[in-house]
Parts: sequence; C-alpha cells; structure tokens
Amino acid sequence: MTAFVNEFMAQVRAKNPAEPEFLQAVQEVVESISVVLERHPEYRSAKILERMVEPERLIIFRVPWVDDQGQVRVNRGFRIEMNSAIGPYKGGLRFHPSVNLGILKFLAFEQVFKNSLTTLPMGGGKGGSDFDPKGKSDVEVMRFCQAFMAELFRHIGPDTDVPAGDIGVGGREVGYLFGMYKKLRNEFTGVLTGKGLNWGGSLIRPEATGYGSVYFAAEMLGTRGESLEGKTCLVSGSGNVAQYTVEKIINLGGKVVTLSDSNGYIYDESGIDREKLKFVMDLKNARRGRMKEYVDKYKSAVFTPFDAGAEYNPLWNHKADCAFPSATQNEINAKDARNLLNNGVYVVSEGANMPTTIDGVKLFIDAKILYGPGKAANAGGVATSGLEMSQNSMRLSWSREEVDAKLHGIMKAIHKTCVETADRFGTPGNYVNGANIGGFLKVADAMMDQGVV
Ligand code: NDP
Repeated sequence: MTAFVNEFMAQVRAKNPAEPEFLQAVQEVVESISVVLERHPEYRSAKILERMVEPERLIIFRVPWVDDQGQVRVNRGFRIEMNSAIGPYKGGLRFHPSVNLGILKFLAFEQVFKNSLTTLPMGGGKGGSDFDPKGKSDVEVMRFCQAFMAELFRHIGPDTDVPAGDIGVGGREVGYLFGMYKKLRNEFTGVLTGKGLNWGGSLIRPEATGYGSVYFAAEMLGTRGESLEGKTCLVSGSGNVAQYTVEKIINLGGKVVTLSDSNGYIYDESGIDREKLKFVMDLKNARRGRMKEYVDKYKSAVFTPFDAGAEYNPLWNHKADCAFPSATQNEINAKDARNLLNNGVYVVSEGANMPTTIDGVKLFIDAKILYGPGKAANAGGVATSGLEMSQNSMRLSWSREEVDAKLHGIMKAIHKTCVETADRFGTPGNYVNGANIGGFLKVADAMMDQGVV
C-alpha cells in the first residue's frame, strides 16, 4: 500500500503545487486510509479518495474596503466548499494575514472528517481572508466584514453552507457578518454559528472547542484509569480555544502553566488560576492586548519573546503531564515533540487544527502516548455549532446544562469511535488512524450511495 500512497500523493502534489499544508493534511489521511482501501476495493474503483481531495467548489473574491484614513484597501476572500455528502458545508472563517488557498484547503479537508466524527449531519467547508484584524479599529473591522459578506452572501445559506468563527473571527466579527447577510437577504436564519445569545446563538458555543478538547483528554486518560486531577498542563495560544481549555482544566483539577500569542509565551509556575484567567480574558477579548502584559500584573510569571529563527518553541520545553496546543498549525515540530516527551508529557490533545508536523506525530505515535489529533479532539466546537443549527431550526434554545451534556456526550462518542476503529483496523491506541478512518467511512459510504456527483 505504500506504493499506492506514494502514487496518490504524487498526483495530488502535481495538481496542488505550493500548498504544503494541504499536502500535509492529505498525506496523513491517505496513510491511515490505505488499509481501508485494501479491504474495500469498491472505494478505489469509485475514486472516493480522488474525489475527496478535490473541493466541490472554490470561491475566491475581491474584498475592497475603506480604512479610517479614507484609503482604499483590497483583501482576498475565500470559501472552500469541500464536501457536502453528509450535510451542508460547515466550517469556520479565518481572518489572518497568513491565510491563502492552501491553508484553507487543508482546513476544509480536515473539517470533512471532523464533522463526520461528530455524529451530526454536516459536510465540510472553510473560508476566510488575508485581512489582519490586529490593530484595526472596531469600525474598520465592521466595514471589512460587511464588504466580505457583500460577496459571500450569494454562496451560503442555512441549508447550503453555514460558516462560523476561527482565528481572528469571534463573536464581534460573526455579529457584523450576520448583520450584513440579514440585510442583503432580508431573512433571519441560522446562516452563521457562533452568534450572540440574544439573536440565535447557543449557550456553550464559545466554550465548546476548549471544553471539548479537555473532555477528550479526560477520556484518553480514562483508558488508563487516570484523570486530569493534579496534572500539570502546557497550553499554547490565548484566544477562544486556549481560554476555555484553561477554564475546563481548572474545573477538572489540573494546573495550567503556559499561554502564548504570536509575540511570545508566559510561564507561570504557580499556575493560572480563575482570577488570572479572568485577567487574560479581559486582556484578549475586551482590551485586545498582548500576553506580555500578564507578567506586569503577575510577578510569578516569566515572558519569553517569540524567536522566529529558533529551531524549537521553548513553550513545549517545560516539565508537564499534558499539552494542549491551541494556537495554530505546525506549532509543534519534531524537536518540540521530542522535548515534550523528554519532559514527561504523555497526553497531547489538539485544540488547534494540525498543530503537529508529520514528523512530530510519528514521534508521539511511536512513543505510544495518548495523542488526540485535532480532527477528533477539537471537534466539540463544530459539534456545538451543529447544536446551534438544530436550535435555530426548531426556534428554541436549550439550557447551558443541556448543551454541555450533549457536547460531553459527543466527545465521548468521538473518543469511542476512534478507539474502536483503531482496534478494528489493527492499530490499537492509534487515535490518528481511528479518527481518519472513522471520519472517512461515513462520508465515503454517503458518496457511494449518491452516485458520481
Ligand atoms: P483566536 O483568534 O481566538 O486565537 C488564536 C490564538 O493563537 C491567539 O492567541 C493568536 O495569537 C495565536 N496565534 C494565531 N496564529 C499564530 C501564529 N501564526 N503564531 C503564533 N500564535 C498564533 O483563534 P481560536 O482560538 O478560535 O483558534 C485557535 C486554533 O484552534 C486554530 O488552529 C483554529 O483553527 C482551531 N480551532 C478553532 C475552533 C473554534 O471554535 N474557534 C474550532 C476548532 C479548531 P495572536 O493574537 O498574537 O495572533
């Protein structure tokens, strides 16, 4: 089957040059899936995998807007409608200067498998722009969101494609995007998730990705009869996912000692408690400041600036039990993975999408640690978006406890699928294979049923 993987990847590489993140995401999946294709030649003859790596539709558009100085700015907007075999396209929007077609294709591809794992009827998509919200005024962000939606609105809809947030797109941006969609379409529908509570949002949606990633870690620990109680945890990022990861770890009795942003990271040996987390949430969500300010307030902590030329990220080089990468893709390379293992980390639950390089993943798997890949561990966010869609369709709202219980149940179900699928295909304990194969089978069978479309 290695020959098949090599041949298949050569074709994908030839068709998608200069898209390293997309190729990385595809390679990981194809390596897992090859055993399934061996057992099920019907998938091969129906060219299921060849179809899955080809987006159903790519939308690329100009986003012109005017800044506070009256200057015209031009950004690029994208929506990747990757696969709709099991439901409407679903996946977030990312606003970050690094955004390009390859990054969004990797995210859309991952999303197909992740959404399938949630047990909910959602296809996969992703979108965004190279717009950088950092340093922009509120009004500039609003104007940009409106200009972005002025094109996107014609491609999306509650039964077609339902975007949500991702890096750089939180409650504020979803609000501006939804407002413009509603004005242009003259209809109030659940076309976006992550909405405000009093206009169709779901309780627990902001918390869901972080909470879900910690629930997943707790499930993995449970297989060894352990819990998060007393565990020391490294968390990267300080945005939506990182903040609620910290909150849930504290709730379950663990201790978090790191957080970061793109300028550097803080190490607080005494632990980030509820009061310190409240400070971080205000710093990041209201004042939109930098993590460096944490050490001005809490003298127990040390700030280390980000060094772009360094071979490794020192955040991952502290003694700990668990790691929750929650910032961005490829933030753990092979050297970081080795440092984590040498420092005693034996649980990695990925809040971010594809935060570990392929070499890093191999090290985790060979070391037989509890390694939960993003498409399983961070699926709680999109799962709760799915719950928001259900509530919108029924025009009612569930309580906080109801949504949290459903989220918890879904994370347990995803964990079970990963474990059972990994076992069934001869690689017990390998959550990467479990997640890739578990996600693949449902989508592949739906594609088989629906013919060549
Ligand atoms: P936010 O924008 O809220 O936070 C992102 C955090 O990561 C910030 O602290 C940011 O720092 C940091 N970061 C972003 N890019 C880089 C970079 N290139 N280098 C270093 N730090 C960086 O985003 P989210 O918390 O929503 O998303 C974080 C990750 O989780 C992403 O991989 C996303 O795809 C994934 N995810 C998010 C879901 C969600 O529901 N929001 C669902 C599933 C996955 P700075 O402020 O300096 O840029």
